[in-house]
Amino acid sequence: MAEIWHPFWQHGLCEPIFEIDHTKDEFLYTKDGKEIIDGISSWWVNTLGHNNPYIKAHVKEEIDKMQQIIFAGFTHKPAIDVAQKLSGFLPEKLNYVFYSDSGSICVEVALKMAVGYYFNKFKKNKSKIVAFEHSYHGDTFGGMASGGESVFNYPYRKMLFEVLRIPYPSAGNEEKTIEEYRKLLKNRSGEIGAIVLEPLVLGSGGMLFYKPFVLDELYKLSKEYDVMFVLDEVMTGFGRCGTMFAFEQSNIVPDIICLSKGLTGGTLPLAATLCTKEIFEAYYSKDKSKMFFHSSSYSANPVCLSAASANLDLWADKKPLEDVKRINNYYKKQQSSFKNARILGDIFTFEVEGKNNDYTAPIGVKMYDFFLRNGVLLRPLGNTVYVMPPYCIKEKSLDKIFDLLKQVYNLK
Ligand SMILES: *Cc1c(COP(=O)(O)O)cnc(C)c1O
Repeated sequence: MAEIWHPFWQHGLCEPIFEIDHTKDEFLYTKDGKEIIDGISSWWVNTLGHNNPYIKAHVKEEIDKMQQIIFAGFTHKPAIDVAQKLSGFLPEKLNYVFYSDSGSICVEVALKMAVGYYFNKFKKNKSKIVAFEHSYHGDTFGGMASGGESVFNYPYRKMLFEVLRIPYPSAGNEEKTIEEYRKLLKNRSGEIGAIVLEPLVLGSGGMLFYKPFVLDELYKLSKEYDVMFVLDEVMTGFGRCGTMFAFEQSNIVPDIICLSKGLTGGTLPLAATLCTKEIFEAYYSKDKSKMFFHSSSYSANPVCLSAASANLDLWADKKPLEDVKRINNYYKKQQSSFKNARILGDIFTFEVEGKNNDYTAPIGVKMYDFFLRNGVLLRPLGNTVYVMPPYCIKEKSLDKIFDLLKQVYNLK
């Protein structure tokens, strides 16, 4: 039998690998009956809870009709429904939707869309991307190139295209970020096609928060210098920051938005890149060479889209945000026990052992083991501990998580 090579997993550290048999709400159940609280929504994808009966019923119904068809020149009801339902939640400006399969790919699609836009508009030099230091946009080459330099992309750094960096706008340093962006644009706007950002929180970079007004300012500059403003809401979309999309806390609407993790409620792989009519129209032509050259074999899989369609039903009246609010209020009550804790929507985070955030810090592995031995799945990013549970999590489960967090916090 072939050995399985797990992702983001150091097999040399020999921690046990758990075999999960089934799931329910915030719980994972191992083959031998152990109950594990999923404190990180299975890597940020699961928003509404595991094994959601409504989504599951829709998936079962769809899989009986078809499983996969070509999406070039063909369409199907789940794809049409999701486009329709998404437009109910997003401003009219973002009314073209392009489907793909993962967060990384929908960011690649966004960057290709933006650069291809300028190509088709005879501004072929506008092919450079701007991004934050410490950002994360996925593990494919475009995602790795856009992401800040880190242990994740270091071995491949010589293969990556050049990306222009502006500093992460930490509290008090917002003006510096804005100023550096302004300087870049003044000198090089003829080369810059897009800026890509994680709105309000840099997730994998260490749960680094920043203020919404920064988005307003960076957007204003982008428009002044004719640069596409791309928001990677792969993690923040579908309620993580307390609003359905993080950009709603700013005053702007991006030119392109990337959605994936919570799009199917965390049940099946799917992603969507939404853009403006202006971008779509740059590709619209009688000339075949001007079309958008991107597809995956499984683009717009009907079964995955049926899951997204059901998920969007459950978002009617933005109901899940009530649970995010409940969790957020719980966090606020806990905050006094953690001097340096930060809270945003469904996210609670703090650092142990000083300030430097090194993903490979041994303390991260130690804490992971400790949490798991006690029936809770949390995967600290180095010395950054965070909680990001499915919104259905019960108070009793939160109590259990926070009891363990306090033990870790007081160990210092
Ligand atoms: C997870 C993530 C990605 C990559 O998504 P995958 O589905 O893992 O490819 C991209 N951007 C952000 C902000 C993410 O959190």
